[in-house]
Amino acid sequence: MTSSKAALATIPSVDAILRLPSIEALIDTHGRALVTDAARTTLSDLRKKITAENESSQIATDEESISAVISRLLKSWSEPSLQNVFNLTGTVLHTNLGRALLPEVAIDAMVAAGRQASNLEFNLATGKRGDRDDHFNEIICRLTGAEDATVVNNNAAAVLLCLNTLALRKEVPVSRGELIEIGGSFRMPDIMSRAGCKLIEVGTTNRTHLKDFEGAINERTALLMKVHTSNYAIEGFTKAVPEKELASLAHKNDIPFIVDLGSGTLTDLTQFGLPHEPIAQETFAQGADVVTFSGDKLLGGPQAGIIAGRADLIAKIKSNPMKRAMRLDKVTIAALTAVLQLYLNPEKLAERLPTIRLLSRPQDEINKLAVQVQPHLQDWLGPDFHTTIEDCHSQIGSGSLPLAKLPSAALVIRSKEGKRKSGALMRRLADALRKLPCPVIGRIQDNALWLDLRCLEDEEGFAAQLSAKHVPIETQS
Ligand SMILES: *Cc1c(COP(=O)(O)O)cnc(C)c1O
Repeated sequence: MTSSKAALATIPSVDAILRLPSIEALIDTHGRALVTDAARTTLSDLRKKITAENESSQIATDEESISAVISRLLKSWSEPSLQNVFNLTGTVLHTNLGRALLPEVAIDAMVAAGRQASNLEFNLATGKRGDRDDHFNEIICRLTGAEDATVVNNNAAAVLLCLNTLALRKEVPVSRGELIEIGGSFRMPDIMSRAGCKLIEVGTTNRTHLKDFEGAINERTALLMKVHTSNYAIEGFTKAVPEKELASLAHKNDIPFIVDLGSGTLTDLTQFGLPHEPIAQETFAQGADVVTFSGDKLLGGPQAGIIAGRADLIAKIKSNPMKRAMRLDKVTIAALTAVLQLYLNPEKLAERLPTIRLLSRPQDEINKLAVQVQPHLQDWLGPDFHTTIEDCHSQIGSGSLPLAKLPSAALVIRSKEGKRKSGALMRRLADALRKLPCPVIGRIQDNALWLDLRCLEDEEGFAAQLSAKHVPIETQS
């Protein structure tokens, strides 16, 4: 008998495994079907491993080891995949880390909406059917100055729905400088073709004039559109047609002017020491008929795409059957409404809305936090690394204000050995930080790992998990 055949012969049967007391306890928690499935998977993996390995004597086939593997597998199947992390990347609205953090009022509203029945589409005054948009369109109108509004699943859906409603089988001229891609999967030209309309590119990448638009308009033109190029900036010899001129050209030709604001905000961000970002109110003042923007970017709410504007156009958009496929669920409606209500009192926003609070957090406060946290981090790291506190710049993220740099402070970790091989070492350090109970995500730059503390609000939780468990970082490759 070869050694692998001998090892295969020692693997217990599924039935034998299921009779183990430790497995019976698992059956009690997870149910017999799932545990049987986990046992089969584990035993089959074990057989494959033994057959593939030359040195099979290393692989444990005793009941206790197998039971431990089954237990870990069941745990991984029944644990949520979505996990909280510490976002110390320096990007506040990080798309991959979930963008805006919600205020407590929104979280409470989501829990309540999830827990019990509600008047989602039920008019409590008349006892008749209601419209789910009624929960937020009045406040959106109040905050933006629009005549009417509706909300869909995200801003990509909002743009798609507007174009499909207002420009189906028609032409839409857009400046070449605004044919943007956002996060890989949202490309304006692709959205236009899926919306069933024909994109007419006008102007050049860096310069587009009013006469370029004038030349593109004909009887097939459905509308004029401006896309706020929020995730990049073209500097130097550039020209874009001002919204006001585009609006009056559109209206002269009896077609609507729509603006995709991207991030969009409902209040002047300069009051919080931030750079100016177009506000929906201002865009309407320039003559826009419809604007769209995201709920989870600068607005600081849940993922959503807000569509606001002229009542006749919103009515058309709402009657598009595609709206039904993109509508908000009750939990999002609860959160969005709570966030919008915070905007009724802009003076308190920096206190109440996490996105504004984090974006406007002063550098000296972040610095103080760094001084507090540094010893815990240094203890956890051990003697092979040293930490410093350094000035850095945070970014807003999600394509908002790409050139805006927010002065911040970071804990910077370097290897004591200097630059030699530090790239690989930094990656191992980043791995160890990601393996913490609440993974810590930083960024590697110039042979160092930077932890920008702008978004650290639970410093106690952060420090506690560092002192609870020392995860040794392999310093030898
Ligand atoms: C972010 C963005 C979108 C997409 O918004 P989502 O809410 O992520 O779907 C569309 N247009 C512009 C200009 C954007 O910046």
